[in-house]
Amino acid sequence: MARIFKFGGALMKDAEGIQRVAAIIRPYVHEPFIVVISAMGKTTNALEKILQFSFDNKEKDLRRAIDRLKQQHEQITKQLSLGSSCYSKLSLLFEDLEKELTNRGNDRYVAYDRIVSFGERFSSLILYEFFVSEGLPCAWIDAQKIIATDSNYTAAKVNWHKTEELVKNAITPLFSEGKFMLTEGFIGAHAAGNPTTLGREGSDFTAAILAFVLDAREVTIWKDVPGLMNADPNRFDECIKLDQISYHEAIELAFYGASIIHPKTIQPLQKKNIPLLVRSFYHPENSPSVISGDRSMDTKIPKIIIKDNQVLLSIQSKNLSFIAEDNLTTIFDAFSRHKIHINLMQHSAVSFSVCFNHHQNKLDALLHDLKADFPFRYNANLQLITVRHYTEDIIQKLLAGKQIFLEQKSRSVIQVLVK
Ligand code: ASP
Ligand code: MG
Repeated sequence: MARIFKFGGALMKDAEGIQRVAAIIRPYVHEPFIVVISAMGKTTNALEKILQFSFDNKEKDLRRAIDRLKQQHEQITKQLSLGSSCYSKLSLLFEDLEKELTNRGNDRYVAYDRIVSFGERFSSLILYEFFVSEGLPCAWIDAQKIIATDSNYTAAKVNWHKTEELVKNAITPLFSEGKFMLTEGFIGAHAAGNPTTLGREGSDFTAAILAFVLDAREVTIWKDVPGLMNADPNRFDECIKLDQISYHEAIELAFYGASIIHPKTIQPLQKKNIPLLVRSFYHPENSPSVISGDRSMDTKIPKIIIKDNQVLLSIQSKNLSFIAEDNLTTIFDAFSRHKIHINLMQHSAVSFSVCFNHHQNKLDALLHDLKADFPFRYNANLQLITVRHYTEDIIQKLLAGKQIFLEQKSRSVIQVLVK
């Protein structure tokens, strides 16, 4: 039963990070083992910009951005003392990138996947070359050859049967030769061989896909934080590490906006009961946070999720008539048309209040549509505080000195919109 490690771009932003990756994997490489990596540092963002420059015909900006990206990757190659063959392979990849840009066509989604997938291709090349130079028994398998998807570019759906077949065919000979597999997260391909991507932050999901099709023993996501925390350490001094939570709890937390692990990543693991470990990249000796089917610890520690930049829109009905189902249909249609995700809502006799993330363009478009039928008011710059498994004490502390706009409370969750 294979073990799968995933390393994100933030951990591999420089040569030191990559050396650390090699040191972390070394004890595991002689068992069935897979390493999934994403693009280095901020490469994916840089490639998104490059694509935008290309569509805007901003030749100078485009040139500069490509050169900078190439320089960054060459610099790391140099610091890792990788030989000239690695340089030439890297140059070839950059030539391919330029060719793709020249021939990108006008479909933005197709172009996105063709261009942005290069980030993972650069990083897998460098990691592969470095692992081999370190004497690690690594085999690189192109994710586009094993992750089969549909043609829903930029948010491709996995073809699970095909993927299972491809992954097993690729992995069997490699494991029997005593090698471990290195592959890219985030990217795949559809039947016609066109590159696809699984959505931003998709490399965690790739690790889960591989785990699912191989019935892996566990997946480990390495992070630059001590593990899963009960609140954002950038906001709170007294955060507690969660040693153990259930799949269910993890999905709930993600739903309320915790940027922990995407629900998409949890689901395949939950189906096969494969534990997900979150481990500290800088302190691998520390115990991991474990996400599994065990729900016994879920209620022990309150978990706090804060979302800034919220809008509260209060929609009235004309003539103080009830906000009835047909009105709600009109309102929900408008939200769905403008792709506005509702974070919290409350319904009273004559008004309907909705809280959502503030995107000015979307808000303008929404209000434009509602204006004819409904009077409304709105407040911006609000903060949505969610506490799962709250205590009165925590609520008091969090709400001290705050003005409350909306509050909802169930047995396990409280959500309060404040300023
Ligand atoms: N490189 C991709 C991104 O930045 C995928 C990932 O990191 O998970 O979104
Ligand atoms: Mg990431």
